[in-house]
Amino acid sequence: MAQTNTTTTQAPSYPAQVTGMDILVRALRMVDIDTMYGLVGIPVTELAYLAQGRGIRFISFRHEQQAGMAAATHGYLTGKPGVLLTVSSLGFMNGLTATANATVNCYPMIQISGSSVREPIDLEQGTYEGLDQLNIAKPLVKAAYRVNKPEDIPTAVVRAYRAAISGRPGGVYLDVTTPCLGAIMDADEADKLFYQPVDLCPAMPPAQAAVDRAVEMLAAAKKPAILIGKGAAYAKVENQLKTLVEKTGIPYYPMSMAKGVLPDNAPLSALSCRSTIMEQADVVVLVGARLNWLLSRGHGKWSESTKFIQLDIDPEEIDCNRPIAAPVVGDLASSLDAIIAGVEKTKMSMDPTWVPALQKETAEKNAKFKERLTANASAMPMDHWTALGVIKPIMEANPDIILVNEGANTLDDTRDCIDMSQPRHRIDCATWAIMGMGMGSAVGAAVASGQRVVAIEGDSAFGFSGMDFSTICRFKLPVTVVIFNNGGIYNGVGENMGTNGDPAPTTLDIHARYDKLGDAFGATTYYVQTPEELQKAFTEAIALKAPALIDVQLGADSGKESGHIGYLNPAPLEKIIV
Ligand code: ADP
Ligand code: MG
Repeated sequence: MAQTNTTTTQAPSYPAQVTGMDILVRALRMVDIDTMYGLVGIPVTELAYLAQGRGIRFISFRHEQQAGMAAATHGYLTGKPGVLLTVSSLGFMNGLTATANATVNCYPMIQISGSSVREPIDLEQGTYEGLDQLNIAKPLVKAAYRVNKPEDIPTAVVRAYRAAISGRPGGVYLDVTTPCLGAIMDADEADKLFYQPVDLCPAMPPAQAAVDRAVEMLAAAKKPAILIGKGAAYAKVENQLKTLVEKTGIPYYPMSMAKGVLPDNAPLSALSCRSTIMEQADVVVLVGARLNWLLSRGHGKWSESTKFIQLDIDPEEIDCNRPIAAPVVGDLASSLDAIIAGVEKTKMSMDPTWVPALQKETAEKNAKFKERLTANASAMPMDHWTALGVIKPIMEANPDIILVNEGANTLDDTRDCIDMSQPRHRIDCATWAIMGMGMGSAVGAAVASGQRVVAIEGDSAFGFSGMDFSTICRFKLPVTVVIFNNGGIYNGVGENMGTNGDPAPTTLDIHARYDKLGDAFGATTYYVQTPEELQKAFTEAIALKAPALIDVQLGADSGKESGHIGYLNPAPLEKIIV
């Protein structure tokens, strides 16, 4: 019989005995988890030490939300769940923000949180960090489990892993109670608990009839387009998409984080023709992209007659906003393979004027865009476009660099400006369009990929996660953080509408020297005011392959309220106070 002991202060006598924490670390190793992100304290401090001692990299943060953003980004880039470790109560809740965000964005991650002793929580007697964490997590995550006994830990880890990556990926919460973490078991009994799970992420091929229906519709299309979402980036189907595009000649449009799955800057990229596609395409193939708010309403209007072929792993996604004429439910790799096989046997009937018209529009828009980037190049202070005009060619000449990007105008303008040519090289605030993912995602991207990362941050966006720039420094990661300081949320020219003289709600610090914050943690830092200074600093910083921070001084009037999504505001500011 397994012997369990529920006191936490007792030490096991190694090697004859082990604790729940030993079992948890071994169970994580069993499913190939090699990295954990988190912030320790009671009751998980020893767990992190054990994990580190047994070959799991532990990346310690200053705030759990950022550790969670790192885990989510790790999951997105690697296709294996990123793991976040949190303490009970507040630590758990801080981390849960990121786990909920991962669920909305279909990033696979597992939040493992220590929790307090159950009995006083259930009787509401008040206990150290006592919170009913499992029930709080449940509505916000893809799946949530609690382990009470060390014997159940390997099963719980495998279930959490499968839930995170199977079907539509998402965030999973695994609650491990303090008594379970500290429980002592005989080592030979514990040995018997482990097994190697088979096929952790099974292929889910689509039905042939669904594929045939889609191919037939595609073959008959006159003005087709392929719309690529971040599901395609996650599923690593860039080769299949390249084949499909080459075989059919159909133009493509990427969603923000799908930029680079196929090159932004290639003859069949219709990146600049979103409205034309929405108004004129007769058949649109959605590949791992949802017809959510980012593809409707203020973001453009589809023609009534556009028909959709939707490739998605989640059957519930189909028809959720618009009728889908040809759903192909399955994993993207299998679905695209099957569609390519079908297309090879079928004659396409695309209108020969469709692609040239899109290419003409692209050339015209690109020329206009170029003008914008240099229009104010000699004016001081710089605006967003001038700064991006400097950064763009350098980023595009270094396609290995992963770009992390958040802000309002900083997000919109950077996305519009910097062409991507590699898949999974653009990570941003994504489906919820939230702020506060920057430093966490930068750390996760650098750790998961081993590559260089550049984070382009609005000054407000940076504020949410700024302290975790110190994590970049402690772990000596090859990350350059670029802060576009226009002194506020949207911009720095907001006016107090009353008489007390306080800063306006959108006003931050136009004169803040964010570079000095970098100095505090030993980074290489720069403060730049001109395009020439920015060019020198940015070129130098990315060559360092070490922590660097560039404070880019913009004008306070650069940037408009809400960037491109002002239409979501309930009322225009000038009309709310009369
Ligand atoms: P975007 O915002 O870039 O349009 P979304 O995150 O809204 O992308 O949509 C991604 C879609 O991709 C989701 O509907 C998700 O179910 C789907 N998806 C994720 N991974 C896979 C996969 N391996 N195979 C098929 N579909 C996937
Ligand atoms: Mg700003």
